[in-house]
Amino acid sequence: RLEIRNLRRAYGGRQVVDDVSLQILPGQVTCLLGPSGCGKSTTLRMIAGVEMQDSGTIHVDGKLICDTMFRVPPERREIGLMFQDFALFPHLSVADNVGFGLKKGTREEKRARIEELLERVDLLRYIDGYPHQLSGGEQQRVALARALAPQPRIMLMDEPFSGLDNRLRDGIRDETLSILKEEDTAVLLVTHEPDEAMRMADEIALMRDGKIVQQGAPYNVYTRPVDRASVAFFSDAN
Ligand code: ATP
Ligand code: MG
Repeated sequence: RLEIRNLRRAYGGRQVVDDVSLQILPGQVTCLLGPSGCGKSTTLRMIAGVEMQDSGTIHVDGKLICDTMFRVPPERREIGLMFQDFALFPHLSVADNVGFGLKKGTREEKRARIEELLERVDLLRYIDGYPHQLSGGEQQRVALARALAPQPRIMLMDEPFSGLDNRLRDGIRDETLSILKEEDTAVLLVTHEPDEAMRMADEIALMRDGKIVQQGAPYNVYTRPVDRASVAFFSDAN
């Protein structure tokens, strides 16, 4: 369970993230949806710990991981990340890519976990292959397996499907969703596409100019926009 409260970040006097609060529950996908430049990625980077907020707090399972005085470094936050430029390590085998974030366990235990995950994304046959031997969609599935390997309680995804063609994308979205639900992960998914949010989200947080302007079940957000700008956002995108 992830809770962010009153998160703020300014660049050069401009408030890019302006008092954002969100709760993300296990087994749920929350979509942070909004137009380009509204502050989605900046919000995610602060949660991941690669960027510092000006004010606000972040808690994971009730434990403080970051405020303005105290911060747990990114690698100890137990938060999984999957970004658009998911870049696999080209010089590492598929197995070593997936196993990269695995710290605990014996060699055999790690290998078993890697095999289990590759089985899940239906790529076990490539376990000893290299990234350049895989298609874009296959690489994306390896990146998913890598992000899931350490069993993060929380997964942050920033437009993770945008590099894929439509046909591949639907399959990978569904596959990703079912794995994340099965592992009871709390997911925060960033997208600027209403369609993607409608398809994947249990909850949509609509963002504009650094603020969450509306939050709720996808159907409600879509059918009851709060203002003209939201109407325009949903209709422009279609
Ligand atoms: P997109 O959908 O295009 O990815 P976004 O909602 O993810 O957009 P952000 O990347 O969070 O938007 O950026 C929000 C605003 O903050 C943008 O106007 C961007 O130019 C600005 N910004 C982001 N990072 C920095 C930085 N390191 N220095 C200065 N300005 C930045
Ligand atoms: Mg972005």
